[in-house]
Amino acid sequence: MEKKELFRKIPKIDKLLESEEVRRLCAKYGYSLTSDAVRNATEEIRGQILEGRERQAEESLSRISDRISEILQEQDARRMQPVINASGVILHTNLGRAPLGKAVMEGITRMMTGYTNLEYDLGTGTRGQRYDHFSDIIKNLTGAEAAIAVNNNAGAVLLMLSALTSGGEVIVSRGELIEIGGKFRVPEVMEQSGSRLVEVGTTNRTYPEDYEGAVTGETRAFLKVYTSNYRITGFTRETTVEELSAAAHKAGVPLLVDLGSGCMVNLKKYGLPGEDTVAEVLKKGADLVCFSGDKLLGGPQAGIIAGKQELIDKISRHPLTRALRIDKFTAAALEATLRIYLDEKTALKEFPVLEMLMRPVEQMEQMAHTLKEKLEACAKNLDACVETIDNSAEIQAENRGKGRTKIQIVTTKAKIGGGALPEEELPSVCVSVQSDKFSAAELSRRLRLARTPIITRIEENSVLLDMRTVFIEEISVISDVFSELLLN
Ligand SMILES: *Cc1c(COP(=O)(O)O)cnc(C)c1O
Repeated sequence: MEKKELFRKIPKIDKLLESEEVRRLCAKYGYSLTSDAVRNATEEIRGQILEGRERQAEESLSRISDRISEILQEQDARRMQPVINASGVILHTNLGRAPLGKAVMEGITRMMTGYTNLEYDLGTGTRGQRYDHFSDIIKNLTGAEAAIAVNNNAGAVLLMLSALTSGGEVIVSRGELIEIGGKFRVPEVMEQSGSRLVEVGTTNRTYPEDYEGAVTGETRAFLKVYTSNYRITGFTRETTVEELSAAAHKAGVPLLVDLGSGCMVNLKKYGLPGEDTVAEVLKKGADLVCFSGDKLLGGPQAGIIAGKQELIDKISRHPLTRALRIDKFTAAALEATLRIYLDEKTALKEFPVLEMLMRPVEQMEQMAHTLKEKLEACAKNLDACVETIDNSAEIQAENRGKGRTKIQIVTTKAKIGGGALPEEELPSVCVSVQSDKFSAAELSRRLRLARTPIITRIEENSVLLDMRTVFIEEISVISDVFSELLLN
């Protein structure tokens, strides 16, 4: 077809908007987004003609309403929405890390839709501090003298260094100069804070004497960073918090610890892999500890700094504290989260992160069996469909073995993720789905784009649904999604 003729064939926007298909899309997505999509679809075709891709343009013209629908669907998938995490990674940064406890959300709804005493002292009727609501609880839980919270732990590290060590030197082990996802690198944060990094020791071995030997008149602090997303194993020697604290105090400077995923519960007590709790690190002699709110703590995104009163006071006065300050949503959610930790038993039940960590294998097996049965029922329908629709002998022969969905229960390992307990894996139970109709990649793509998106992982050409991270009430949602998918 001629270019000119093709251009003439592009429907007018108004005409398209009047067509039945597009009117249906309008009802679903609204006029404003739909008319944009119509404009984009026609622009696409114009572009194809201009670039001399006439064949493609003709094809696009013949399916323009499908294309409009696709554009709207793609946009819709970018909307923030709940997803089912069947990946097995408990703290998945891309999936929002820790889900908040239901009690936390219920407790703060009224505060968030009305006014609160965020910075108002009800006793005196004067200005209060937004940190006062939770700092006493942190003190109680960790034994710290004082505490403050900012937007996230990356901010907490930057703030700690900016307020306490700017213009001076900070000694760090070469084995702890880590990068965490999202371009957070210890040497760069150090530079940003205006402090000079003094590296000591080697990648695998660092001794207290290494730190002591590097002390100068310019030394402002020792920094210990928990290597939360990797492990150095083999011929290693890490300097402990106790050793470092003794060395730092001998040099007359504080020991700052970036704990990464600070946990309030001693997981080792429950037979789980676990690092030191915040309280333990402080007890071992750290002067300040900072950690995330949305890793193992299971709360909102935040960076909590806890420790010596004098140092927290200095931090509070730094202008960055104002720039990084938490909003009322975080303050309320953090307080509600921390308050639950005052009773450990309640915390273990209330926080999804902890419940998933502790979830017994038998429970995951139970869940897997329930899901497997439901999926098998869906698959049976599908396989029956394939057989009855295509009843000519020829097609039957061609389809033999197709549409067969293999559903199995497999035991695997789940990762904790989110910069917490690297290399530590927990036993996990998965439902594995292998379909002849879709490749594993295609099936997992379809699950991702489903009405309730399901995030899975692929192993050896099967799609795995990991029962470690699925909420029990999601089992029936998963089977609904499957029955829609497999039948379409
Ligand atoms: C995760 C992590 C951070 C960053 O914390 P965010 O809350 O993600 O900003 C910093 N340091 C360590 C050691 C971490 O594990």
